[in-house]
Amino acid sequence: MKAIIVDAGIGGLTTVLFLKKYGIDCEVYERAPAIQELGVGINLMPHAIAAFDEIGMLPVVEKSGIAPDLLFYRTGQGLIVWDEPRGRRAGLPYPQISIHRGRLQRLLYDAFEARSPGAVHVDRAFISCHNTGRQVVANFVSASDERFAARGDVLIGADGIHSQVRRILFPDEGEPRWSGRLTWRGTANWSKFGNGKHFVVAGSNDARLVVYPDSRRRDGRYIADR
Ligand SMILES: Cc1cc2nc3c(=O)[nH]c(=O)nc-3n(C[C@H](O)[C@H](O)[C@H](O)COP(=O)(O)OP(=O)(O)OC[C@H]3O[C@@H](n4cnc5c(N)ncnc54)[C@H](O)[C@@H]3O)c2cc1C
Repeated sequence: MKAIIVDAGIGGLTTVLFLKKYGIDCEVYERAPAIQELGVGINLMPHAIAAFDEIGMLPVVEKSGIAPDLLFYRTGQGLIVWDEPRGRRAGLPYPQISIHRGRLQRLLYDAFEARSPGAVHVDRAFISCHNTGRQVVANFVSASDERFAARGDVLIGADGIHSQVRRILFPDEGEPRWSGRLTWRGTANWSKFGNGKHFVVAGSNDARLVVYPDSRRRDGRYIADR
């Protein structure tokens, strides 16, 4: 069996590592011209880490990220609302891991590339698909307007919140509804605070600040790589 996966984001790459584990061949098509380490911090909860453990990703993800062991809630004035242990310190079998989002994507990409060399195709934007009765044909276009087609037994759309696959399957659904919440994300080189594994939440549902370390770096390089 062969699966066509639209996109090499975190969802797509995690999916293909699972499919590969169960012996299903995969070809991945990504719109971006290259897999780059974009984004800032992302938090993986212990149940997500349990899934990464199933595909052999726990050691590298743990080495590249930071496992928060204490969560602090504070008011806007810094007063204590709630403190709680996280991950293994809370008695769970898996840690919570904070990691740079682009770094996680790169780790997943490298793991899949090692298991299926050359199976990720960049600069391929998915546009349409049809069913031949026995197979699915997916059509892609490059940035320079070249057209490509791929055939497989199944097509999986993991192309994010503005998914073109979803638009085709559910044409009357319309655009996603905005909750009205806006998140600003940022990253900075900063000295260690607390024990270096503390996760701070301050404010309320209407205006909230979340601060956590996502990696140990020196001179812009991950210490895990040294
Ligand atoms: C560049 C970027 C930076 C992000 N930074 C952060 C962050 O710092 N912190 C955080 O918590 N979350 C971040 N996110 C969101 C987080 O990664 C996602 O919410 C979560 O991982 C869900 O992943 P996903 O795989 O479903 O979709 P996404 O991560 O959104 O991936 C979707 C992928 O599909 C590709 N794609 C879209 N349309 C097509 C198409 N027609 N054909 C082929 N490929 C297509 C996109 O290029 C992208 O690689 C970021 C997402 C992106 C794309």
